Amino acid sequence: MISFSDLKAAREARHHRPITVLDGAETGHASSSTAGSGDPSIAEPSSCACTRAFNLVSNAAFASTSTSASASISTPSSTTPAPPKPTSIDPRDTIYTLPPFLQVRRSEGSGRGIYTTKRIKAGSVLLLSTPRVAVLSTSQLSSTCSGCFLTPQESALKSGQPVQGIKRCQACRATYYCSIACQRNDWKEHKPECQAHKVLRGAWEARHSGENGKLHVGEEKKWVMSEAVRGLGRLIWARKREREVSGKDPDWWAEIEAMESHVETLPVAEVMRFGREIQILRQYLSCADAASGDRPDPADMVDYGFTSSGQLLNLISALTINSFTLSSPSLSPIGLAMSPITALFNHSCRPNAVVVFPNGGGEMNVVAISDIEPGQEILTSYIDVSLPREFRRKELKDRYGFECDCPLCKTGGSELPVGPDVDEGMELLRKEEEGTLDHTDLDTRRRLSSIIIPLTRRLSNSSHPVLALLRLQALVLTPPTSFRSHTLAITSLAQAYSGAQMVYPPGHPTLGMILAEWGKLLAMESPPEWGETNKVEMMRRLEPAVLVLRRAGMMLEMGFGAGGGLVGKEVEGLRRGCEGELQLLRMAQ
Ligand SMILES: [Zn+2]
Ligand SMILES: [Zn+2]
Ligand SMILES: [Zn+2]
Repeated sequence: MISFSDLKAAREARHHRPITVLDGAETGHASSSTAGSGDPSIAEPSSCACTRAFNLVSNAAFASTSTSASASISTPSSTTPAPPKPTSIDPRDTIYTLPPFLQVRRSEGSGRGIYTTKRIKAGSVLLLSTPRVAVLSTSQLSSTCSGCFLTPQESALKSGQPVQGIKRCQACRATYYCSIACQRNDWKEHKPECQAHKVLRGAWEARHSGENGKLHVGEEKKWVMSEAVRGLGRLIWARKREREVSGKDPDWWAEIEAMESHVETLPVAEVMRFGREIQILRQYLSCADAASGDRPDPADMVDYGFTSSGQLLNLISALTINSFTLSSPSLSPIGLAMSPITALFNHSCRPNAVVVFPNGGGEMNVVAISDIEPGQEILTSYIDVSLPREFRRKELKDRYGFECDCPLCKTGGSELPVGPDVDEGMELLRKEEEGTLDHTDLDTRRRLSSIIIPLTRRLSNSSHPVLALLRLQALVLTPPTSFRSHTLAITSLAQAYSGAQMVYPPGHPTLGMILAEWGKLLAMESPPEWGETNKVEMMRRLEPAVLVLRRAGMMLEMGFGAGGGLVGKEVEGLRRGCEGELQLLRMAQ
């Protein structure tokens, strides 16, 4: 059973995680005598930064209409939407290796898509893959392992071992790992990146010597390239490495080149922007060959297998619309992942499958969230399906360049909420997304409840921004500091769940996540001063906790596949604990 002090400790640990420095010699890193001088305090990573944007110029989080309070499902991109019939098989699509019951088919209007030849049950894992490349958002670098994409707490939950401090790469001081094993596994990919980081850090320190030139933990945000540049770097270095060994492109490069790029329809301004981004990328790549502190010239892309600038433009454009949000096992957006095969799934605002990372970034699963009949297309959603129609359509048009003609978009009137309380709610959600909302500020809590009360009177719990605000209220109140805030957080999640059931498809993992959050709060042991002193009161709390956690476990299995991922494991352990405690209480009666 999780206790109040456990929750509090877990939260505090996020602020005061001990930093240890990896021994560079162990992995072939050059030792640095100045390593390890960092400030051990880490800025708490913003749980809400939307990492979906693929922007090479800036590290700034993309401000999308989705909120931290609404969980993130990986949203790929690809061709166009629309239920595609009739379909045909094209010999060009045989480069993809899929399970025998899945086929790449083409149709008029939707282009390529993935179809099933057999009946599929909800909760089945349709495709288990590893992203070709995955990188953390800059804001996550110092709190999450760059090898397994788990935080130390998640890593401990996975291994069943005590929580270990996160360890910093001693050579570049920008990349962190949960273990020596993770660092070793990542070294081949990280090696050129590590060298580039050293050069960039050297240049930054030289410019800022007036400020003591001393870098503290978390300050890599100031000089580390955006996730898009780092992702492209890893991809291009991997290609170069394999070309040097075999004298030709690796087989997987054909999948990268076959991605839709829409480059022929790009507006001139966009082409110019990509042109500037190519310059940044060339500069970054060349840093890997430079001595630390040098300012290298932009790389000659012929060395990397590119014979024209058109090829690079094509690659950047393709990755802009085909990359996924890398999410944590609890659906928080933490970075960017590229997987050409997973990007073949087309979009629907009422998807029958989702893309999730149930156990960390090394595993990228496509899971069926409803039963699917033979011959049907497998559809995932590229955006948060709980958003109003207008927001969804705008995002799909702006980011992926298509008009969604799914049944939810074609029918019905406006879903846009209006009113000053809506505007204020949106403002709070925007701040949360930027990471500037202070959860400990009493005024924040007061403002939230003063908006939510009138909003829930006139709008349904499923509407935007009510659903997101209810989840935000529970998040802000966790861990609860009083009996009243505990009760309010529980009520908020119960309301959020009733709303989410109306906007998410039945097996969607967000439903399992809300139930898990709700169940965890119910299972939380209250401190003695809250007055839960007798057995009857404890049983009154534990009985619904068991029910909600059991339901959460079932829903997580549906949304993440068998086992329900790391959150499923956590919920299962918690439920067993509550059941054991209930049994003891009943025996003592
Ligand atoms: Zn790790
Ligand atoms: Zn490094
Ligand atoms: Zn739609």
